[in-house]
Amino acid sequence: MLLEFQGEHPNDEGLCSSQQRKSVAALGLLIILLTGLLLVARYQFRINKQLTNSDLNYENGRYFGVLADIHMDQYQNDTHCRNGDDVEGEWVVHYPTPYGAKLCDSSSTLLNMTIREFKEIEDKTGPFEFILIIGDLVGHWIEGIEPSLESVNKVRNLVSSYFPSTPVYFALGNHDLTTVHYRIPEYVERWYSMISTSLFPGLHTTEFQLLSATKTFNKHGFYKVEHSSSLWVVALNTNVFSNSMNATEEDIGAQFDWLNETLHQAENQKSVSVLLFGHIPPEIEFLDLVRWDSNKNMTWKPDCVARFNDIVGRFSNIIKLSFFAHQHTDNWYVGKSPNGGYINHFLMPPVSPVSRGHPSFSVGVTNGGWDLLDLLYYHSPVEQLTRADQTPRYFYQYSFKEQNFHFNEKYSAIDGALMDGLTKRIVDFEDGMETYTARLMNTYQFRYKPHVSAYEMYCVMTENTSEGLDVCLKK
Ligand SMILES: [Zn+2]
Ligand SMILES: [Zn+2]
Repeated sequence: MLLEFQGEHPNDEGLCSSQQRKSVAALGLLIILLTGLLLVARYQFRINKQLTNSDLNYENGRYFGVLADIHMDQYQNDTHCRNGDDVEGEWVVHYPTPYGAKLCDSSSTLLNMTIREFKEIEDKTGPFEFILIIGDLVGHWIEGIEPSLESVNKVRNLVSSYFPSTPVYFALGNHDLTTVHYRIPEYVERWYSMISTSLFPGLHTTEFQLLSATKTFNKHGFYKVEHSSSLWVVALNTNVFSNSMNATEEDIGAQFDWLNETLHQAENQKSVSVLLFGHIPPEIEFLDLVRWDSNKNMTWKPDCVARFNDIVGRFSNIIKLSFFAHQHTDNWYVGKSPNGGYINHFLMPPVSPVSRGHPSFSVGVTNGGWDLLDLLYYHSPVEQLTRADQTPRYFYQYSFKEQNFHFNEKYSAIDGALMDGLTKRIVDFEDGMETYTARLMNTYQFRYKPHVSAYEMYCVMTENTSEGLDVCLKK
C-alpha cells in the first residue's frame, strides 16, 4: 500500500525528479532527433558523393582503366539473360532483363553500357594511360574456337571503338582457352596465335616489341610490353599454374624462367617499374570462406606459388602494381616472399554479373613514378534497377583510399608493406573486420562465414601457401 501511495502521490523530491525526468526525456529526444538528422545528412552526403563522383582530383595523377571477367555471351538475346547451367545443356531463360542478372554472363546490352560508361569516367578523370583486361573475355558456356573468337572480337571491337588510341593489355583467363572446363586444348599454340592476331593490334607498340610479344604469346600465352621508358607491363598466363589445369612442367618452367629473366632486365634498366598481371591469382581460395575453412583451397599448385613468391619477392622494389581477377569479387592480398619482399596484390571485380552480383569496373591512379595512389571502383546494380523499371547505369562505389585510410592520413604509395599494415589494422580495429566484410557482402553477395575470426582472415590475406597459413594460424 505504502509503495502504491508513494507512487500515486509523489513527494516534492519526487515531483522535482519528475521534472528532471521530463527535461532529460526532452534532451534525449533532441539527441535522437539530431543523431537522426546527422545520419540522414551523412547518408545524403554519401549518395551525392556517389552521384557527383567528386573525388577525382589527384594532382598530376595518371589513370588507367581495369576490366575483368567480362564473360561475353553473344548468344544472349536482347530481352532475356540466360545461363547454361542445366544438365541438358538447354538455356535457362530468366525473367526479362536485357542488362543481365545473377547466373547470367554479359549480354551485348550490358557490355555496350559498360564500355560507354567506362569512357564517360575517362572523360572525368583524364585520359587512361592504358586499359587492362584481366582475362575471361569469353562467356562461361561458350565452347570451341569460333564461338570463343567471336566473344573475344566483340569485346575487342567495342573497347577499340571507344578507346581507339589507348593501349589495351589483356591476360588470358581460364575461359579464354576455348574449353569450358579447366583444360589446355591440344591445339593451344594455334589458338594462341589466333587470339593474338585478334587482340595484339590494341597494344599500340613498336614493331619490334610487337614481334617479341607475339613470339612468347603464341607459344606460351604470356608477353611483355614496354609501355613507356618508365613502365613495363608483364602479362602472365597464370592458368598454367592453376591447381585444376592440365599444364606440363615444361609450360610452367618456361614461364617462371621468362618472368625471372624479364624482371632482371627491367631491374637493369634502373628507372623501370613493372606492372604484373594475370587472371588466376596465387592465393588460398578466399572467394568463399566456407570452402576455405574445410580444405585450404589453393588456386595455384603449391609448388608454383612458392616459385612465384620467390621470384617476385626478389623484385618487389620494381613491381609497383599487380592485379589478378577470376574470383569475381574485389579484394586485396599481400604477396609475401620468404626473402622478405612484399608486393601489393589486388583482385579486381568482374563485369559479368554471373556469380556475385553487380557488374563493376575500376580505375587506378598512380603518381608519375607509377606508385599506386588509389583504386576507384564503380558498379551497376543492374538486376535491382531493372526490377525497379530504371535504366541501369554505373555508380561510383568507393575508393580504396577512402575505404581504408583515415581522413587526411598521408601515404606515399599503396605498396606491399602498406597493404600488410592495412590487413593488420583489420585485425586490430574492433569493427574493422565487420566494416570490411560488410562492404563485400553488400556489393558482391560475399558469403562470409561469421565464425571466421578477423585474425584468420588476416592469415588468409597475407599467406598464400598452406605452410605459411598453418604457421600464421598457430600464432
Ligand atoms: Zn571469370
Ligand atoms: Zn576465371
